[in-house]
Amino acid sequence: MGAVPIGGGAPVVVQSMTNTDTTDAAGTAAQVADLARAGSEIVRITVNNREAAAAVPEIVSRLRDDHGVDVPLVGDFHYNGHTLLREFPDTADALAKFRINPGNVGRGARHDRNFATMVEEAIAHGKPVRIGVNAGSLDPELLDGLMDRNARLPDPRPAGAVLRDAMVRSALTSAEAAEEIGLPHDAIVVSCKVSRLPDVVAVYRDLAVRCDYPLHLGLTEAGMGTKGIIATSAALSVLLEEGIGDTIRASLTPEPGGDRTLEVSACLDILQSLGLRSFRPDVTACPGCGRTTSRVFQELAQTIQAHLEARMDVWRDERPGVADMRVAVMGCIVNGPGESRAADIGISLPGTGEEPRAPVYVDGEKVATLEGPALADDFIRMVEEYVESRYAPAASAA
Ligand code: SF4
Repeated sequence: MGAVPIGGGAPVVVQSMTNTDTTDAAGTAAQVADLARAGSEIVRITVNNREAAAAVPEIVSRLRDDHGVDVPLVGDFHYNGHTLLREFPDTADALAKFRINPGNVGRGARHDRNFATMVEEAIAHGKPVRIGVNAGSLDPELLDGLMDRNARLPDPRPAGAVLRDAMVRSALTSAEAAEEIGLPHDAIVVSCKVSRLPDVVAVYRDLAVRCDYPLHLGLTEAGMGTKGIIATSAALSVLLEEGIGDTIRASLTPEPGGDRTLEVSACLDILQSLGLRSFRPDVTACPGCGRTTSRVFQELAQTIQAHLEARMDVWRDERPGVADMRVAVMGCIVNGPGESRAADIGISLPGTGEEPRAPVYVDGEKVATLEGPALADDFIRMVEEYVESRYAPAASAA
């Protein structure tokens, strides 16, 4: 399993999580491969029982042999990770990282013993650990103690602030305990996930002040559709703009039968929109208005976008730098020529009532005028030619 650097100035890493039954090794490997091909650089799988633990080595070998995919897998453990990791050493070896939720490893002395066992297994197998605290599964003893103490204050703080404090304390005391057991400082990643934007921002700002562990960002339950994407984008953008966060995940609830890779696309778009990473060429398309025959314009924008995304599978390896390319597809003369000139390559379609001709600009210069039913194909050919002339083949592809 390939390792992905996290923290220490490395680019922010995109993560995702499967929703298959881990005991279905073929199905889980297929979904992991889909997520990885969509751009996920680390994939988490649940390891919730003995059958799931037993399936992990097969998932890894299927990924390699059936799909040609080498992506690090994180094992998500709750309640029984201490027994599973001991009982299935091949699983511990096959995983790239263990995720431990300190709120779900038992209570009292059992908590400490179980937590120590998992950390010892991580050390024995040379694996890093994510200490992953969630608001919904916070250690109740810790929370109750802090709530009681707060209630006795002359001027008690709001319960939400106490909850956030409890999460940060749970994460940091667990990370410190892991280090005392012998886990290296640089083998620890921390997350504290909540569902509301103000809480997630406050928690991670606090964490960033109080520790230097790499931080995994996300809302714990972002929700469905545009609500989930917008909530995730808004929360993560605030933090990433402040330089907080080393890995991210969009915890979107898929529509029934929906595409799990949406959570990966959302992360790629967040990082690319913030200018933190480039994954695929940027298409500047106007929203369209009454000045354009929107169907033609929308279809062209969609065709170009789909073509660029499909071609990135090849260009990524063969044409380094092409992910930084900017393509404009504009609807009429109002902003079309200006945006097209500002892009690397752009087309300005004719608006309603304009001459049915579409000027194409390359590096700020008008180089052609397209028209007729082959306009989309002609423009795609020009984009292909632009990539060939502008982005030199990679040494290995030459
Ligand atoms: S570029 Fe033209 S079609 Fe597009 S939104 Fe602006 S005015 Fe409307």
